[in-house]
Amino acid sequence: MGSFNIHPDFQNEFSYATSPLDPEEFRRQGHMVIDYLADYYQNIEKYPVRSQVEPNHLKSHLPDSAPYNPEPIENILRDLQKHIIPGLTHWQSPSHFALFPCATSTAGFLGEVLSTGFNVVGFNWISSPAATELENIVMDWFGKLLKLPGSFLFSGGGGGVLQGTTCEAMLSTLAAARDQMLRKIGRNNIGKLVVYLSDQAHFSFQKAAQIAGINPSNFRVISTTKDDEFSLCPNSVRSAIIADVEGGLVPLYLCATVGTTLSTAVDPLGPICNIAEEYDMWVHVDAAYAGSACICPEFRHFLDGVEGANSFSLNAHKWFFSSLDCCCLWVKDPSALIKALSTKPEILRNQATDSKQVVDYKDWQISLSRRFRALKLWLVLRSYGVVNLQKFIRGHVNMAEHFEQLVAMNKRFEIVVPRKFSLVCFRISPSAMNQNCKILSTEEDVNLINQKLVESLNASGHVYMTHGVIGGIYFIRFAIGGPLTDYRHVDMAWTLIKDHADALLKAF
Ligand code: PLP
Repeated sequence: MGSFNIHPDFQNEFSYATSPLDPEEFRRQGHMVIDYLADYYQNIEKYPVRSQVEPNHLKSHLPDSAPYNPEPIENILRDLQKHIIPGLTHWQSPSHFALFPCATSTAGFLGEVLSTGFNVVGFNWISSPAATELENIVMDWFGKLLKLPGSFLFSGGGGGVLQGTTCEAMLSTLAAARDQMLRKIGRNNIGKLVVYLSDQAHFSFQKAAQIAGINPSNFRVISTTKDDEFSLCPNSVRSAIIADVEGGLVPLYLCATVGTTLSTAVDPLGPICNIAEEYDMWVHVDAAYAGSACICPEFRHFLDGVEGANSFSLNAHKWFFSSLDCCCLWVKDPSALIKALSTKPEILRNQATDSKQVVDYKDWQISLSRRFRALKLWLVLRSYGVVNLQKFIRGHVNMAEHFEQLVAMNKRFEIVVPRKFSLVCFRISPSAMNQNCKILSTEEDVNLINQKLVESLNASGHVYMTHGVIGGIYFIRFAIGGPLTDYRHVDMAWTLIKDHADALLKAF
């Protein structure tokens, strides 16, 4: 990393900034930070992918109180390199295969920089008309790319909003559904409302339901099976709903997933939405990771049936190259959101709002203040164009297919669930264990050796992977989606996996 020469202003003992936003200092320091980050990306493969520090690492390196006198950026960047970098897990590393990707890009980064640079607070249209209008436009662009039904677009009476996370999207839509239902059945009946999801749905929904005041005993987690590839079975959904109705409860909201976190299972949207419609329920489709792939025609069928849902969301910060945070939420009936989330303080009153010709996004989300997130999505869509975005996603999927073939061809390993997108779920197979052991190994032994494999791989610093457990089977998740990942990283990871597995099998 570059060395930093101290600016002459700081060579005196005391130095006072003339303004917290001096344009020339901004230019000088801004260039330094961009150079620093460009070097970081250039050298990212030199760092251990998963941070290897022990708890309280920073406490032992940084002072326990803030400096009274100013310090030059050069010193701060030097400390960043020395103390902060070792405590980072490098999510943009090409060998980060853990969880799901959180892919940035030059365009996503620059959009974020511009948004932070302007630092406007776009809670309502008048507070920065372009922030709202650009968001309206890019959400319709993106919705059209995904071939969402017209009813989810502004041009068709619905609309999209950029929120921080899926959890916020779930909470906002759940609040909308809750209030819509309570207007019909009376506020006192909140304790009767029931929500449904599969045992593979993301745990962020539980958080949303807790905050929305859903009675914890009315949280129906529907079991999935390997035979159904861990997707929701419509008959199980129907049975759960019927049992609740017979018990005097009120089915409210069903959270379906396209691309579950553990294994990228896809719930059958069409049949589920049909059942929900019979009971006047709200359906939200969470496609946090896999939704982005649906801009490619060959993956679009995973969204079939979305036309029956009330809302749909995906995280553009996962696999759409738009830096954290950027959750895209589309709703068919914005008025349901607005009724649940709007406030009308006198201090924000203005003619544009009164004219009802504008969107005031503060009424579409939980918080009041909001960032200009649309800029980064606009830059990503324009800088790469659909053609490259499809190419990036297909590239990741092809690499995953390549990795899957390597695993499938090796008798010591097995694929645990069929791959759909760019996540491969695999493990050391029980048969490989049995070949190495004198006594037949148990399922616990197989789980244990796979757990040890993940731990030893991650401790090596060369790769980072995480695990999942489904139906008692511990497996390794190999998720591809980093903006810098190439075949050589995948091949290198595979060699490493085989070597570590060999060593563990020998020692078992
Ligand atoms: N839904 C799915 C399917 C996910 O995979 C994730 C995170 O990986 C989430 C929701 C949670 O997203 P967020 O952190 O944006 O709330």
